[in-house]
Amino acid sequence: MSLRADAKPFDSAETASIEELRALQLARLRDTLSRTYERVPHYRAKFDAGGVHPRDLNSLADLANFPFTTKEDLRQNYPFGMFAVPMDKVSRVHASSGTTGQPTVVGYTQGDVGTWARLIARSIRAAGGKPGDRIHVAYGYGLFTGGLGLHYGAEQLGCTVIPVGGGFTERQVQLIRDFKPDIIAVTPSYLLAIADEFDRRGINARDTSLRIAICGAEPWTEGMRDEIERRMGLQAVNLYGLSEVIGPGVAQEYAASKGGLTIWEDHFLPEIIDPETGAVLPDGEEGELVFTSLTKEAMPIVRYRTRDLTRLLPGNGRAMRRIERIKGRSDDMLIIRGVNVFPSQIEGVLATIPELAPHYILEVSRPAQLDELEVIVETRLVLGADAEAALARRAEHLIKALVGVTSNVRVAQPGAVERSQGKARRIIDKRSKERS
Ligand code: ADP
Repeated sequence: MSLRADAKPFDSAETASIEELRALQLARLRDTLSRTYERVPHYRAKFDAGGVHPRDLNSLADLANFPFTTKEDLRQNYPFGMFAVPMDKVSRVHASSGTTGQPTVVGYTQGDVGTWARLIARSIRAAGGKPGDRIHVAYGYGLFTGGLGLHYGAEQLGCTVIPVGGGFTERQVQLIRDFKPDIIAVTPSYLLAIADEFDRRGINARDTSLRIAICGAEPWTEGMRDEIERRMGLQAVNLYGLSEVIGPGVAQEYAASKGGLTIWEDHFLPEIIDPETGAVLPDGEEGELVFTSLTKEAMPIVRYRTRDLTRLLPGNGRAMRRIERIKGRSDDMLIIRGVNVFPSQIEGVLATIPELAPHYILEVSRPAQLDELEVIVETRLVLGADAEAALARRAEHLIKALVGVTSNVRVAQPGAVERSQGKARRIIDKRSKERS
């Protein structure tokens, strides 16, 4: 499927030919490697220990000889040790949301803030937004990159920004009704909580002015997209990013074609590696996504292991390649009695049962010798005990058949599962405590 003609690019770099793109990437990669080697002691030590020097890079493939960077490296250099410019050139800091431990700190020069804004503007454009649109930003503001990232990008595109931030769900609904935004930028789980609030107030969520939801910051499924689009009467598109690489705006799904997120490859070079061996895998194979920044000044990053699992897809009407919807992060993978399970797989199964709502939590424990997986999921309507039990058995059967794991499904009443106001927490793993 090729892009519709109305997917007007934000800038000419977006439509560069493959030759132009690769030449640009190589020049920028050389510059990034030299700058990191010259200016960041951590990289110099790591390159030296690995016996590689920036001048050894003759092609993009040579990047595979350079060492990886991990979250641990950033933690060891907390807070500002990975910066490649003096502090008086750093105009902003952000931090990762700390989903998986101590947050890591990232920095931006004025130039980086500008690059980031242009990439978000490009992303909003690809999502179907245009100058003059009103955009309700419900990502959190503050150290988290979501709120301010979208904010600056929306201004760059020429939108009217409504900087709401996360939380205060009743107010979110009120502001959507009063300010009549065209676009909402929000985590998909929180958008469903907002949809619930519309229902609670007896207002049809399909009747709002919203045309587009730019959803990201957490894994979600096609089932969740269908749910959001059906309930809110809008197009929901996927935005991906992470603070270590820049924040949101690393890759964006085009509204006109959907199916995979185009990586802004003129600024971020992707690789997919085997998470066990670190070997680079060919395009199309599933593995861990690794990024090298190509233009970042304050905190360039070389071969950053995102821990996000996906595959690289060919470009769709663009030279820049795409990533498939993220399956989950390797840290979120549960091993239940030896079977690898991602929350997104369970979410996918639950979405096939119309009576169940996409509000769920996975609880893992080990009361005796064996792991137990409990899936707590809400129904859409209040049902009787017999109907709940029947649904639970059906879900257990499907989870066993499709994911390969035995579970105990507990069907709960609408509203029983706590709503997120940002990134949803899907897993409660009680095993580590029980073991120690
Ligand atoms: P933290 O790692 O503390 O959550 P960030 O706030 O930088 O820090 O979050 C980045 C992570 O969020 C990504 O590495 C990825 O796991 C997840 N993420 C962001 N966007 C998406 C998306 N569209 N789909 C799936 N996961 C996403």
